[in-house]
Amino acid sequence: MEYFPAFIQLKNKKCVVVGGGGVASRKASLIVRAGGTLHVVAENVETALSDLVEQSGGTQHVGTYDSESIDGAYLVVAATNDTKINEQVSKDAHGKGILVNVVDAPSLCSFILPAIIDRSPVMIAVSSGGQSPVLARLIRSKLETLIPIGYGRLAGLVGRYRDAVKAKYAHINERRAFWENVLQGPIAELVFAGKESSAEEMLGNLIKTEEAPCKGVGEVYLVGGGPGDPDLLTFRALRLMQQADVVLYDRLVSTEVLDLVRRDATLIYVGKARADHAVPQDQINEKLVTLAKQGHRVCRLKGGDPFIFGRGGEEIDRLADEGIPFQVVPGITAASGCASYAGIPLTHRDHSQSVRFVTGHIKEGSLDLDWETLSKEKQTLVFYMGLVGLEKICNQLIVHGLSGTTPIALVQKGTTVDQRVLTGELNTFYDEIKDQGVVAPTIIIIGNVVKLREKLSWYR
Ligand code: SAH
Repeated sequence: MEYFPAFIQLKNKKCVVVGGGGVASRKASLIVRAGGTLHVVAENVETALSDLVEQSGGTQHVGTYDSESIDGAYLVVAATNDTKINEQVSKDAHGKGILVNVVDAPSLCSFILPAIIDRSPVMIAVSSGGQSPVLARLIRSKLETLIPIGYGRLAGLVGRYRDAVKAKYAHINERRAFWENVLQGPIAELVFAGKESSAEEMLGNLIKTEEAPCKGVGEVYLVGGGPGDPDLLTFRALRLMQQADVVLYDRLVSTEVLDLVRRDATLIYVGKARADHAVPQDQINEKLVTLAKQGHRVCRLKGGDPFIFGRGGEEIDRLADEGIPFQVVPGITAASGCASYAGIPLTHRDHSQSVRFVTGHIKEGSLDLDWETLSKEKQTLVFYMGLVGLEKICNQLIVHGLSGTTPIALVQKGTTVDQRVLTGELNTFYDEIKDQGVVAPTIIIIGNVVKLREKLSWYR
């Protein structure tokens, strides 16, 4: 081990930063966040840094550095762009037994600053031992995506009940089981969802009841898996996918997204093809209820966004009736994902003032839509499930007044490596593409914005 990892208490301690620019400011702001009293010595001090000095109740010395400036300091950071001054600060501090950090010069430091993931009071520090701060920062961003912002609040809640739990469970193993249950279950999820008072109430009840810690009722995460590219998942989606015991997924969830669920989770396919309802909706709703009641954490993973043509509302309606805890994680819906990856802005000041997401799903042979309003100019139409009804859609729009030369695009398997985009005009498009082997899923975008693709197409 090159360095001894430790967290230093800085509250009300004199900390000196030598240097007055942006780098000095960034280090200074950490000192102030940790409660240190900031004193700055520099020829020029930028405003942000002066503000920090004032905020912490410290002093600012505008002028040249001399060794007395660091007298009585607990910690010193040298962040000037003058190597000689930085070396001098290091030498002086070492001589006076003061902790010193010189930015970008590990050999002059008695301590180095890690990259941090701040979920106060939880703090994660990553250091490359001064070898590669960039690598440490990359590791940090990976961890940032995995650790919910709410961990800090969760730690605060746990801290308030530690003694009560200690009083109730004499044995450490019992306490460990209790906290593992709390930190990975509905109480933690309530905190992450911003419902701290409900979380506190549930925790209080759990401590009061006499039973040993038990799994109790599970919960359901209704998660939007986006249109295909796994990079488009939200942090929360990924976290819940990795903590669920059971995952019920749809046909539209891409293999790459599915690969990210917890390795040992049970995967249940409940996908529906257009005309062939593999598992009827009420059976899916029922399955969610049963699994949650058995105490499982169930991830209901859907393509795109669960609340856009996803029947997500019906699924959680049942859960609400049964009093089963659930949360909904939005996903990038096919319209935004496919439009972005096809280089088609859905709105544009010159071409389109609104965008409409429309179902193109044909029911009993017909497509019953408000064609009058759909055929208005200056808007963008996005048809989901519109491949089978494509001919009807184009005809109806023309019949109701939209110009036959209106641009149209079809995006197949949008955002994936197999993405294919076909474009044309409303009056000829269907004939042009009908023999081109187009397969689902596809989305259809209609409106003048489609023309922008000629210039803005960027993907593949
Ligand atoms: N909840 C989903 C939509 C479900 S309806 C969402 O928000 O995206 C299913 C329809 O979505 C498909 O028929 C197709 O029109 C569209 N779709 C979903 N993923 C797609 C993709 N990767 N490329 C093109 N269309 C897609």
